[in-house]
Amino acid sequence: MNVALPASPELPRTLLVDRFFDGERFVTGDHEIRIERGKIHSILPAEGRRNEAVTDLRGKTVLPGLIDAHCHIARVGLFEPHEAPSTASVAANLHSALRAGVTTAGDMGCPIPMIASLGELTRNDLAAGPALRAAGPLVTVPLGYPLDWMSPLHRALGAAIPCADRAGARRAVARVARAGMDHVKICIMHRAYDLHALPTFSQKVARAVVDEAHASGLRVFAHAHWNADYRVALAAGVDALMHSAFDPLDAETVARVADAGIPVCPTLWVFHSGCLGAEQRWDRDPARVAGLTAPVRRSWRRFAEAYQFSGEVLPEGIAGGLPKAAARLGVTNALANLLLLREKKVPFAYGSDGPYGFSTVFRPFEELSLFSGVGFGVEECLRTATLGAAELLGLRDRGAVRLGAVADLIWLDGDLTRDLSALRRVSGVLRSGVLVPLHVAPSDRARAAVRRGIGRTLLGALRGRSA
Ligand SMILES: [Zn+2]
Repeated sequence: MNVALPASPELPRTLLVDRFFDGERFVTGDHEIRIERGKIHSILPAEGRRNEAVTDLRGKTVLPGLIDAHCHIARVGLFEPHEAPSTASVAANLHSALRAGVTTAGDMGCPIPMIASLGELTRNDLAAGPALRAAGPLVTVPLGYPLDWMSPLHRALGAAIPCADRAGARRAVARVARAGMDHVKICIMHRAYDLHALPTFSQKVARAVVDEAHASGLRVFAHAHWNADYRVALAAGVDALMHSAFDPLDAETVARVADAGIPVCPTLWVFHSGCLGAEQRWDRDPARVAGLTAPVRRSWRRFAEAYQFSGEVLPEGIAGGLPKAAARLGVTNALANLLLLREKKVPFAYGSDGPYGFSTVFRPFEELSLFSGVGFGVEECLRTATLGAAELLGLRDRGAVRLGAVADLIWLDGDLTRDLSALRRVSGVLRSGVLVPLHVAPSDRARAAVRRGIGRTLLGALRGRSA
């Protein structure tokens, strides 16, 4: 079905809809959503008589643009830690995420010059990718996660800042704040993905990170994977927990998460898909590999082939050497933890942690299908990817269809109230009221911004070395 829209994005537009999700629940019946200057100006029951042309979206489902609260948009997404920069892959990430309906993305770790360049791109060119909110470099301790895993190249490029004590913590946060980043990502991980013990933050130093960030007006999001990580993060006063715990959360930790009133972004799919994707050879499935760039396709194949011959343990990757049985148990525990937290009314946010391995930034349905699989209703699932993710990122102006909100809206064919998988059929995307052309390739401008980001990151690393 063709949808008529005003030629100029500057013109006000009115959408005629009969089913929309407002961030919390579905609203049905004919409504007119009027958009002016990039914001939702009014939402009124349709009168049946009107003076101006409307965009008729009846029969479709309209919802707020999706928000991925945890991604790494500038990563190529390979299983292997030593990935070379790839302009095509990063441009494709931005492009395909937006066209899948993701209008805002919370980047949770990237060298500053790179994410600054991408942020500038998507601010000035609304069709180039989602609006970005960025952490910049990860704040961690010497030899802590992700320095245990990261390639020397990425370390040299400034993807993480190690800090050994409270003064170092304050300096690290000040650097992130000075660079104009939007939040701080602190890595608290007592045990690596392959289960070996890691040095990590003491409560005191973690607290210094949080205090310094809050003094600069920045939220702090904790990478945390075990009960012990959750406890340090909670005691430090972080603003959200990133990732599910792999060990069963104990009752006290669950209660403390609930008491803190902070959201959890469980990023289930990135872990769930590891064993499954290799066993089911997703690298050979045309539907699964559609939209991936060549380096990512090759990495999927290498991983799946290596998995066949790696016996009882995972092949090279972030969890290389981890027994496959332990990987499966971690995922089972993560899903059980989700239900424990839900019982205590802990809010959740959608995050892909993509691109990494089998998790991309352009298939939100995959993550939401796991929520749905353990009993979350459609509205509950959608809330995590709209209002829930907006709240986590501290964005009060989006994630909902309400007056004054940024007019980031998407629509899709079919009845989402009955079928969550309709999320795979996004047929229209507005970013700040501007219609995003769907069937085009990433622009030269986008590729130039990625190249500029890579160039500035390399230059920064060289200067850092010579200094
Ligand atoms: Zn991450």
